[in-house]
Amino acid sequence: MLASGSAHKLAEFQRVFDQSPVELLSPLDLGCQCDVDETGATFADNARLKAVAYATTCRRWALADDSGLEIDALDGVPGVRSSRFAGPTATDDDRNARVLELLAEVPDERRTARYRCAVAIADPTGVIAFESEATVEGVIGRAPRGEGGFGYDPLFIVGPGDTTMAELPGVAKDVISHRGQGGRAARAFLERALIGGGP
Ligand code: IMP
Repeated sequence: MLASGSAHKLAEFQRVFDQSPVELLSPLDLGCQCDVDETGATFADNARLKAVAYATTCRRWALADDSGLEIDALDGVPGVRSSRFAGPTATDDDRNARVLELLAEVPDERRTARYRCAVAIADPTGVIAFESEATVEGVIGRAPRGEGGFGYDPLFIVGPGDTTMAELPGVAKDVISHRGQGGRAARAFLERALIGGGP
């Protein structure tokens, strides 16, 4: 199961698991929810916390993703606090507006950033069986563009052109994205562990 209630993450991981003999189900599909305090200092810590909590609560293999945006000119902010940035009631639009405000005086060449995704998989007893971490480099634009993706995607320009992550079709995002890379590594591990005769 995916150790997340995020519909966006579910859609992206399910695309990566398309045609796999391993079926990736959501907490909703399985009728098993779990609230996890993301108290870790790193993406990897939080991914492990979520994987273990879902696996032990729901007694399933659990795949967790903890991810976020690191902006170099802000010393890595919002980082592990990406989903909580700009306050507990902020929307994606509010968070993007706050990023633009903080970077207003920052010249183009210093607007570098990356998405980072830590993946952790726990077995049904709650033992971590697999971990991986992936990044995709980009630049923060000066105004939101595009309707695809979610979160900071309308601001995140991926080279070599001037395209934001939100302007890419979903499958094109998957080819380069932090989650696409992490998801493919997770898929390969799970197919070996569950179908192909052991890790
Ligand atoms: P998490 O649920 O604690 O892992 O928080 C992830 C947060 O990081 C999301 O709510 C977004 O704000 C941001 N984020 C992570 N991955 C992406 C992405 O692929 N596109 C846009 N924003 C992302």
